[in-house]
Amino acid sequence: MVSFPRCEACGMPMSHPSQHGNGDTGHPYCLYCTDTAGQLRPRSEIREGMIHYVMKSENWTRDKAEAEVDRQMIHLPAWQPAH
Ligand SMILES: [Zn+2]
Repeated sequence: MVSFPRCEACGMPMSHPSQHGNGDTGHPYCLYCTDTAGQLRPRSEIREGMIHYVMKSENWTRDKAEAEVDRQMIHLPAWQPAH
């Protein structure tokens, strides 16, 4: 089984180079978490996108989706407190 790198901001597996920011496989963030310059989008924007994705894909209420997204974001490298 091939394991793909995961976006460090939203956890999405990036199975194709085009799914990386800037289409660069060395980029730690996905297409959806970066802007056209390849810069990481603000946390609030990414969180909102993840909440909508979970609500749609799981058919969950916003409250439930928010709780799940917050639980996931705690573990994602992009949102760790600076050392
Ligand atoms: Zn991402």
